[in-house]
Amino acid sequence: MQTHQFDAVIVGAGGAGLMAALYASQGGANVAVVSKLYPTRSHTGAALGGIGAALGNLEEDNPLWHAYDTVKGGDYLADQNAVKVLAEEAIDSIIELEHMGLPFDRTSEGRISQRRFGGHTSNFGEKPVRRACHSADRTGHMILQTLYQQCIKNNVRFFDEFHVVDLIMNQGKAVGTVAIQLGTGEMHVFHAKATLFATGGWGRVWQITSNAHSLTGDGSAVVFRRGVPMQDMEFYQFHPTGLYGLGVLLTEGIRGEGGILLNRHGQRFMEKYAPKIKDLASRDVVSRSIYLELREGNGIGGKDYVHLDIRPETVNRYLAEAGETRRVDDAYIAQALAETLELCRTYAGVDPLTEPMPIQPTAHYAMGGIPTNINAEVVIDENWTVLPGLYAAGECACVSCHGANRLGTNSLVDLVVFGRRGGKAIADYVKRASFTPLPSNPTGEIEAEINRLRNSKGKTRPGELRKMMQTSMMSNVGVFRIESGIKQGISDVQELRERYQTDLTIDDRGFQFNTDLIEAWELGCLLDLALVTGKSAVERTESRGGHSREDYQNRDDDKWMCHTLAYRKGDNPYPRGTMDLEINHNKKVDTSLADVDKRFLPKERVY
Ligand SMILES: Cc1cc2nc3c(=O)[nH]c(=O)nc-3n(C[C@H](O)[C@H](O)[C@H](O)COP(=O)(O)OP(=O)(O)OC[C@H]3O[C@@H](n4cnc5c(N)ncnc54)[C@H](O)[C@@H]3O)c2cc1C
Repeated sequence: MQTHQFDAVIVGAGGAGLMAALYASQGGANVAVVSKLYPTRSHTGAALGGIGAALGNLEEDNPLWHAYDTVKGGDYLADQNAVKVLAEEAIDSIIELEHMGLPFDRTSEGRISQRRFGGHTSNFGEKPVRRACHSADRTGHMILQTLYQQCIKNNVRFFDEFHVVDLIMNQGKAVGTVAIQLGTGEMHVFHAKATLFATGGWGRVWQITSNAHSLTGDGSAVVFRRGVPMQDMEFYQFHPTGLYGLGVLLTEGIRGEGGILLNRHGQRFMEKYAPKIKDLASRDVVSRSIYLELREGNGIGGKDYVHLDIRPETVNRYLAEAGETRRVDDAYIAQALAETLELCRTYAGVDPLTEPMPIQPTAHYAMGGIPTNINAEVVIDENWTVLPGLYAAGECACVSCHGANRLGTNSLVDLVVFGRRGGKAIADYVKRASFTPLPSNPTGEIEAEINRLRNSKGKTRPGELRKMMQTSMMSNVGVFRIESGIKQGISDVQELRERYQTDLTIDDRGFQFNTDLIEAWELGCLLDLALVTGKSAVERTESRGGHSREDYQNRDDDKWMCHTLAYRKGDNPYPRGTMDLEINHNKKVDTSLADVDKRFLPKERVY
């Protein structure tokens, strides 16, 4: 076992982790980034459509309008103090990224180009606004490359292909992490004054997902096992446009450029569900509309998909109908949506310039996660009590700027705004704090669990258990939910957790690049998060944002303007059958913007 010591250790090298590492190091901290993937392979690199900020480069815009859309899109569950920070600091953060060298697309005057995206409007919902800054449809890729270069320049130390498996606590503080070096199988301890988790999402809980194979929620599971609650886990976003059968994401930017959703009758069905904003309604609304169309037998050829049409003749017809002067042609689409065209041709054999794309909703984004305040400090209860030394940012965190449903482009904003805040807060903290000693034998418990997995001798491989969990979660805790279904999902996951303990087997018992072992460990994280999701979902007896209950179809603001906090109970931190949870709803939603403007108070969403 090797031990390393740094002022700050950042777990994860996506947009949030790199932003935090950059700002912590610029603030004078000695920083290491520990990442299971090579940094530029992080999922942030797959973000296509854009990053939202009220720059107003093409038409009038205002951070307060951005905040309003975010609160409304989040179905009023977002903490409005966090939303205010998100909308205001987005502007600054994006200009900083530009100055770091990020090659944004430009307007003819040389300003950052902006496009439309679902749910983003001007003047408190009046009409769609161009707010998404983008670098063609490779925005996340460019963010990642830019930040990685800046981190290297700032002497951030990278430990690539190190898989973090535990959080070390001592004297009520987070004092470090344990990681397995993938190339050797050796255990490393990272002793730190401050540890920030930026480990991304867990879309792999579901069968059809836009998320990469690596998105197994490790960081969230690790801190959860050490006593940190998970917040708002019932809110998981299904993106409306995943490539049929595969889940590969087709960016909302397609509809931003004028793409239209059509059913088997060639009807633009969103006119029915969101008469005002139509195909650009927020994602929860569009995903549910697609499901309703499919239920009515309006899927293409009677199958479980509808069409997304970006062919110039279709787009131009609808633009003309709406009285707009803008027109598109093949060359424009090929340039603005280059990556999308390539994805469709490669994975579906469909050329979007000549035929419509087959799409279905796909599990996409975790609104819930590790609770934090607006400085990315992890908080462990409704009184905002900070756990010293522990931070989280990005998709694994829940500062709750997205509430019950995230708007497109707002995740990238979240990464840069709260990653930056986390980095700055860490730089400040490590100047004041001293190292808390490591406990004796900091790797004992996790080593025993890893060895148990390495030597497991049951009959079922991790991939088989994973598939069963994904199928059950997709049908029972997916876009639409009902008590009996959710309970079925919970009991399926509990049974799989039992088998995880008693019936698992892996083929590779070695040490070097043992991906078999790592996948088994990741499955444990998925099983934990699936169970927390199900148990949080069954308790929330209302429909809000990404959580849509068929047995409680209305939003209930009298009872449910509160967050869910789920704590693990019991002594054994690892997945074993039933897990006792303590769930409370004592944490109230922050509605401070409503004190300034009544329009931030909950009201029926009309599209
Ligand atoms: C296909 C796709 C398109 C998207 N498009 C957009 C968009 O256009 N606009 C937008 O705003 N959002 C978009 N999103 C959402 C957004 O990209 C993600 O929410 C965001 O990139 C997450 O960033 P992150 O920094 O939190 O984590 P990630 O970028 O997912 O990075 C996670 C990091 O954690 C590390 N890690 C994980 N587990 C461990 C472990 N156990 N040990 C060590 N390291 C670990 C990984 O190596 C990785 O470096 C999209 C998402 C997808 C999937």
